[in-house]
Amino acid sequence: MTGRIPSWLPPSAVTDIDLLMLGLKPAARLYVGERGREIRGWARVQGLFCSADRDGYAVLSRSGATARRVLDVDRRPGRHAVALGRMLGYPECCTRAAAKVGDEGIDAMCDAVAARRFRGKFKGIDPGAYRAGRALLSHVPCSHNCGASAKLAMRRSEC
Ligand SMILES: [Zn+2]
Repeated sequence: MTGRIPSWLPPSAVTDIDLLMLGLKPAARLYVGERGREIRGWARVQGLFCSADRDGYAVLSRSGATARRVLDVDRRPGRHAVALGRMLGYPECCTRAAAKVGDEGIDAMCDAVAARRFRGKFKGIDPGAYRAGRALLSHVPCSHNCGASAKLAMRRSEC
């Protein structure tokens, strides 16, 4: 499935799109830069809706209304991390943890979680693999033993 995703997208976008196509998240938000037209055309072929803004962000979804809503919330001034996280299908606990640290703290949170040891069923939620596009999840788990994330990762690996 991942072979059909445009090769110019960052590897992390592959994880996002893959989860979307498997029905494990309602929408995927990607940075596409100047290639809004291209991603729109690709989305159409896949049967997905695409909303893009002038800043180079695109949201893909099986629902046109959802894609537009995510983009609207994203562009709204102020704090909207919780609303956005819900719309992108992230677990509530992880969305709240991410909202607490804010956009500026998310990389540090990711590093802190990634530095922990992932055992057993939690091996699939290691965020270290996300940037390389090998992660099972498209969000930073709130901890190395987040049950909601492990469930999601397990569903994806079953597909
Ligand atoms: Zn969590």
